Amino acid sequence: MTEPATAFQQIAEVLDKSDPLAAYRERFAISPECIYLDGNSLGALQPAIGKRLAETVVREWGTDLIQSWNKADWVNLPEAVGEQIAPIIGAAKGCVVATDSTSVNVFKALAAALLLRSDRKKIISERGNFPTDLYMTQAMTNFLGMGHELVMVESDQELVDAIDDETAVVLLTQTDYKTGRMLDMAEITNLAHEKGALIIWDLCHSAGAFPVALDACDVDFAIGCGYKYLNGGPGAPAFIYVKKELQEAVVQPLSGWFAHEAPFQFDPDFEPATSIKRYLTGTPPVLSMIALNEALKIWEDVDMRYIRQKSVGLSQLFIQTIEEKCQELTLVSPRDPMKRGSQVSFTFSGDGYALIQALISEGVIGDFRQPDILRFGFAPLYNSYKDAVRAAEILADIVESGRWKDKKFSLRSTVT
Ligand SMILES: *Cc1c(COP(=O)(O)O)cnc(C)c1O
Repeated sequence: MTEPATAFQQIAEVLDKSDPLAAYRERFAISPECIYLDGNSLGALQPAIGKRLAETVVREWGTDLIQSWNKADWVNLPEAVGEQIAPIIGAAKGCVVATDSTSVNVFKALAAALLLRSDRKKIISERGNFPTDLYMTQAMTNFLGMGHELVMVESDQELVDAIDDETAVVLLTQTDYKTGRMLDMAEITNLAHEKGALIIWDLCHSAGAFPVALDACDVDFAIGCGYKYLNGGPGAPAFIYVKKELQEAVVQPLSGWFAHEAPFQFDPDFEPATSIKRYLTGTPPVLSMIALNEALKIWEDVDMRYIRQKSVGLSQLFIQTIEEKCQELTLVSPRDPMKRGSQVSFTFSGDGYALIQALISEGVIGDFRQPDILRFGFAPLYNSYKDAVRAAEILADIVESGRWKDKKFSLRSTVT
């Protein structure tokens, strides 16, 4: 006998029935036993990618071999994939390329911005920023040895106060990877510009999670990764956006031959490309690019406003269900959905790591971030309202029963 549906399950059913994005879920391979709430870390697989990769390997690589650089247009993948990403982040044509990793793109964007503001020495970021952004910045200032200073602010007010007319660059991640808090891109970009500083936005937890308007906000540089909400697969290439007016202003320091105006001239002297290609480095990882290229096709007819609407709906329903059924969890994400990206985070009065492991063992995948954050990402293309409610109910049940206390759940793996 099946149990009667709870009130939250009934609400979820109604919302799923009228969900304009519901049909996209079928294009993803998520087993019926799994509720996947970790698309903010590694997006789910679309089986079409496997098929496409197999074709690429067998025909383009296996048969056509080196001819495929032209015949299959491998050589233009960084730009082609960049053009697929552009509309998702509110960028015009010719402003985005897919290349390298986010970490490497932080380095390139930061170096270019510092060259453009060579009379200033202050770089502003948040202490809570994703560590790679901070590490790359520290490495850059050490390498330059020119007395640059990284100021790491710890609150919104400190951020506003820190941006002054000695600030060269403001480097921020729009959506906090731990709490999901979202910064106001238009407002902060404006603030930086008023003081003559440049801005770099890290969109790792923004691209594909909600509408982003880079051109409209007059952003200078942006970077982000391909494997989270863009679903490009593990280690997918990242992207970099550079505002049109700035593209030819300087030469970024990782200018390899793919950043040259004519790489196949094999000219010993560097001649920078007169387009966004200037932000490329070397040979693109074709198989990963093909996977990302295939993954991004789904976005062609997606209305980003529906993505945002559903993301808010999913996270609100999840929070309500948790808060009604489980007092041991405390919301650490902003309660106002307008101040949140597409993830919800809680802390737990017991061992949060063990709770996440227990949850995973029962088919609900979220993740844990040091020291005590339980994270749940909502990917509107493939998560349903039913997922949100079921996940919350299973979580509450594990807490209530104490099943998380089993010793096996507290053993830590390398990747949390
Ligand atoms: C995931 C993430 C990264 C990852 O950088 P990689 O170079 O791909 O490892 C960088 N910054 C932020 C804010 C992230 O969330």
